[in-house]
Amino acid sequence: MNEKLKSYNNKRNFKKTKEPKGSSSSSNDDPIFVIQHHDASNLHYDFRLEHDGILKSWAIPKGPSTNPKDTRLAIETEDHPLDYHNFEGHIPESEYGGGDVIVWDHGTYDHITEKDDKAISFKAAYDKGHITVILHGEKLQGGYTLIHTNDDKWLLKKTKDAASDARRNPTKTEPGSVISGKTIEDIDNDTE
Ligand code: MN
Repeated sequence: MNEKLKSYNNKRNFKKTKEPKGSSSSSNDDPIFVIQHHDASNLHYDFRLEHDGILKSWAIPKGPSTNPKDTRLAIETEDHPLDYHNFEGHIPESEYGGGDVIVWDHGTYDHITEKDDKAISFKAAYDKGHITVILHGEKLQGGYTLIHTNDDKWLLKKTKDAASDARRNPTKTEPGSVISGKTIEDIDNDTE
């Protein structure tokens, strides 16, 4: 079993959930990001960034904002397999993370964290607790920064740039999946 995905695999019974089994894969293409809307015990958004064959993951209770004045709590969760990026559907209520999932946004990203005006690696940025990316999504574009505060807690902030917009509220106005158009309510209705 892939060491990095041990926590992911240990939490799940793959006889019961249709989520992908944890194995890492790699590609030479631009790294991808995904934001999944997940109606588990708490409604939240899962923000995932491809790095080194897996998806680094954070759960954002309020979801991402396009307003640079907003600061959103992002709780780091276990690394997910790359295959998770297009998972949507229903996870049985009895299982870990049980509830409905849609792919709310996806695309590629550029990692642009610098230290002393020099580009540093994603790993170095993660270890430092300060990661800046440019998202090329369908709903979200432009710069976002993740800042580690303590334990598993990080903060997500929109960078002030051409894509920042204090009036847009995409989590409210664009609730559907970028893959199927379905909302989590639609997935819930399909399941019944
Ligand atoms: Mn989740």
